[in-house]
Amino acid sequence: MQVVKVDIDTAAPLHPEASILIIYTGGTVGMVFDEKEQHLMPFNFSQITEHVPELRQFNYLLTVLSIEPAIDSSNVSVQDWLMLARLIEENYQKYDGFVVLHGTDTMAYSASALSYLLENLQKPVIFTGAQVPIGRIRTDARENLITALQIAATKKEGRSVVPEVCIYFRNLLLRGNRSKKVESSHFDAFKSGNYPPLAETGIDIEYSYEHILPHPQQPFKAHHTLNDKVAILKLFPGITPQVVQSILQAPGLQGLVLETFGSGNAPTVPWFLELLQDAVGRDILILNVSQCDEGRVDQGRYETSKYLLNMGVIGGADITTEAAISKLMYVLAQEGLSHRERVLLVQQNLRGEISL
Ligand code: ASP
Repeated sequence: MQVVKVDIDTAAPLHPEASILIIYTGGTVGMVFDEKEQHLMPFNFSQITEHVPELRQFNYLLTVLSIEPAIDSSNVSVQDWLMLARLIEENYQKYDGFVVLHGTDTMAYSASALSYLLENLQKPVIFTGAQVPIGRIRTDARENLITALQIAATKKEGRSVVPEVCIYFRNLLLRGNRSKKVESSHFDAFKSGNYPPLAETGIDIEYSYEHILPHPQQPFKAHHTLNDKVAILKLFPGITPQVVQSILQAPGLQGLVLETFGSGNAPTVPWFLELLQDAVGRDILILNVSQCDEGRVDQGRYETSKYLLNMGVIGGADITTEAAISKLMYVLAQEGLSHRERVLLVQQNLRGEISL
């Protein structure tokens, strides 16, 4: 993997309004149609102004770091997240904001992971992408990129308006660790069912200031490790002991997102309870997350969730699965913590991912 730097020739005078670093990772957003081969392929990002000539009109200093080879985001890895965090850390002082161009398929996972890796963020990190490639006439990449850049550059009283990791898509600015990809055909691909948008765009960009995280008091800090000894177990009626056992007894497992029904309910059959109890007894962090896109886990409301509470399964409140799995990776990577301290950390609202 290689990082190629390209400076974009914009209208920026000697004193640009803002300086933005664009990190291009791949995805549909950066694809063009190869007439000869008759398929979509990544284009050379140094030619971005041919596809989005509007970029030249910005009074911004724009630099692109292009990750080569560009990837389909279905291939994104924990190493890629750590690399993105490092690139942002290394360039943190030089730029006012960051725009990450990323495939839509796993964008919510990546934005969630970055929200944990980048602690006390004072600057915007805006993920965006597209449903239709940049090389197509009806592409949504152009509008998504241009507005993401404007949001990343916006300041109020000298400070960034959105000091958070976000996803900007279509007309919504969403908190990254509250987002989910909900649509694979239409343009409105992302939703945050349990949290209002941070901004909506129409003729103007209307910010919901009361929903944006406050500027942190502590200095920015990037983390460099995540623990991938985690899994997601989605329950369904008819799930067998063999399936549950194969996941809970996977060698080295340290954290599990248990996707339950409704407000956090699960079967009460003895074999299931015993397997869960055994995993809790081995200090595996089990985080109960609802399969519903909206609402919250309330362990203890029903008999079918009360035993989870009593057993030591952690209630995930209104967290998304995408945020839950990366939160476990982050918490399990923190050194020198006891099991109890890790449980307390998982229960806390660390980056605006849950409402307590
Ligand atoms: N498969 C693509 C990706 O996630 C889809 C997209 O970019 O929209 O990389």
